[in-house]
Amino acid sequence: MGDTWAADNRMKKCATCILPETYPGIEFNDEGVCSYCLTYKRARYRGEKELERLLESFRGKGRRYDCVLGISGGRDSSYALYYLVKKCNLRVLAYTADNGFVPEESKLNMKRITAKLNVDLIVERHRLLQDCIRHNFHSWLRRPSPAMIPMICCGCRLGMFRGLLRCAEKNRVPLVVLGAGTSIEANRFKETFLTRNRFGKLWSEERSKTISLALGLLYEIGRNPLYFLKPINGIVYMEEFFYFFNLETIRKLFYPHQTVLQLFQYVEWCEEEILSTVKKELDWVEPGGSTSTWRTDCRLGYLKNYLLKKSVGFTEKDDILSNMTREDMVTREEALRRAESENIVPEKIMTELFKEIEAKA
Ligand SMILES: [Zn+2]
Repeated sequence: MGDTWAADNRMKKCATCILPETYPGIEFNDEGVCSYCLTYKRARYRGEKELERLLESFRGKGRRYDCVLGISGGRDSSYALYYLVKKCNLRVLAYTADNGFVPEESKLNMKRITAKLNVDLIVERHRLLQDCIRHNFHSWLRRPSPAMIPMICCGCRLGMFRGLLRCAEKNRVPLVVLGAGTSIEANRFKETFLTRNRFGKLWSEERSKTISLALGLLYEIGRNPLYFLKPINGIVYMEEFFYFFNLETIRKLFYPHQTVLQLFQYVEWCEEEILSTVKKELDWVEPGGSTSTWRTDCRLGYLKNYLLKKSVGFTEKDDILSNMTREDMVTREEALRRAESENIVPEKIMTELFKEIEAKA
């Protein structure tokens, strides 16, 4: 691994954030500041008053629960559960989808936290990811492309969002809350790799991002049709695509009676506050061997970051840390330091993961 990390330091990086020249669509001005910094819009929150107004309209609507919250055992959704129960006094039903790659610590976190907050927890297993992962990974290896790295764990988002919406419907709860998805966490590169490839550019993002993304994905699959040679993968890809990039449209079409609310569009996302709260109030534990407290809820996160680091020299972590520098949450020096240590993927975890993937169908 050593050589790649070293080569990394030779890459040109933005003078204010930590994005490298390999980031899709990046341009630098004369001062070395990147186009993403120059056009960045600070995170705006709708505020706790607005949240309370909305929540009030859902209180008492469901028979046993006011809302269903998707949790993962990670820090953000654990905090979200704490917030909804303790600060908003809501009757919450917690839901989680087990994709087969959830670390033991995350599972224990979920059990411990829901017990502590006296919240019912529904654990639903799905096989979508387990059935697709080996074929996806082999397809990717045949013609590696950074744009397809986020799609390696195809099936997971589908299992999670669809399960969450179904669970709410089954329990007759009209409100679904997502405890992830802050604008600071948004990994723009996932979309940009697709919208900026040869096909993606055929349709301008301003006119319709979904069409641009769909064309971009078509291009990637055209270059490597192996992805679709296993029919189940093809179907899961198509479905996941819509859940991934267009959840609201799916909700309107299939779950019109439900409202989906993203907590961190209302409540300020503050890493320090979140970490100190979950550790102090909920005895939240980070998975062993992890070098970062973020995205610790799925072991495949390591694989994706490993492949991103190897192929384009940055990871999801560089993206979020860049947003945090733009929000003045960390200094650039701090971000660089954190990226260096938090991007290290323990080799033991990778070796185990490769073996595990090979053992799948
Ligand atoms: Zn920048």
